[in-house]
Amino acid sequence: MKITDIITRDKPSLSFEVFPPKEDSDFAVVENSALSIARLMPDFMSVTYGAGGGTSKYTAKICSEIKDVGVTPLAHLTCISSDRAQIRERLSQLKELGIENILALRGDIPKGGDLSHGGCFKYASELVREISDYGGFTIGGACYPEGHPESESYAKDIEALKIKVECGVSFLTTQMFFDNDILYNFLYRLLKVGVDVPVVAGIMPVTNAKMIKRIISISQNALPQRFLRIVDRYADSPEAMTQAGIAFATEQIIDLYANGINAVHVYSMNKPHVAKRIKENLSEILK
Ligand code: FAD
Repeated sequence: MKITDIITRDKPSLSFEVFPPKEDSDFAVVENSALSIARLMPDFMSVTYGAGGGTSKYTAKICSEIKDVGVTPLAHLTCISSDRAQIRERLSQLKELGIENILALRGDIPKGGDLSHGGCFKYASELVREISDYGGFTIGGACYPEGHPESESYAKDIEALKIKVECGVSFLTTQMFFDNDILYNFLYRLLKVGVDVPVVAGIMPVTNAKMIKRIISISQNALPQRFLRIVDRYADSPEAMTQAGIAFATEQIIDLYANGINAVHVYSMNKPHVAKRIKENLSEILK
């Protein structure tokens, strides 16, 4: 099924993200977590892709297994370290497995800017065009309610996003954010420049203090005082932090649904217990 058909229904949707293992030896554990999350029957599930392409076989395999459970998969694909032939090979692999949806990404530039294994694609929009020319996929793209960290300005980032959509993106998924007003302002800015594809809101339940340091280092998110107080109080007690992080994420999701944002994607970090509790917390709301 097309992701766009799922997220434009007149009802709230809840989906989860998983990531493939970095090492072959971790595959069984990750596979088990991904399938446990799939058995919760979310509206769809995304599977990330290593920027260097090293885990590509696992992205496709996990997507295929999720599909066998009856959940629509969304395969991420990055282009920064690939050439055209490698991308075409991945597309043909996904097509053979019957995977219909791709989130087209640039990927982070490798440390030292070494693009010796690729460098054909500078921006995700070029990958979007490539996938679109190949045909047969529903294509999504990433967006950043607080601006992409490399972007010269917020306005330039939105201009670049408009180009990406014009190249063939039919839905967007946001980077995580912890203050819903940031998303509402962003959506207003998108409409002002004529970007009207559906936007899936990305929510990260923060369940340990280590995650917060990582979040700040990759995305420079604005963290509301209310959230920082929770971290300050519970970061040293893992179970309390998990409970508080899930409660915070649940409240954020309910506020999004209440304000008409129907599509929510949870960065579940391969944690079935987190995905399960969030789904349970929303059981009546999702009916
Ligand atoms: P782009 O859309 O190409 O944007 C990158 C930068 O270039 C931005 O600053 C943008 O403003 C600028 N830009 C874009 N087009 C133009 C243009 N035409 N002219 C001038 N400037 C331009 N990474 C992974 O490695 N694997 C994953 O699976 C993965 N999944 C992700 C999922 C989501 C929902 C998000 C939000 C991010 C994900 N990432 C993933 C991280 C992502 O790869 C990085 O954030 C990366 O730095 C940018 O990727 P992009 O696709 O947004 O790039």
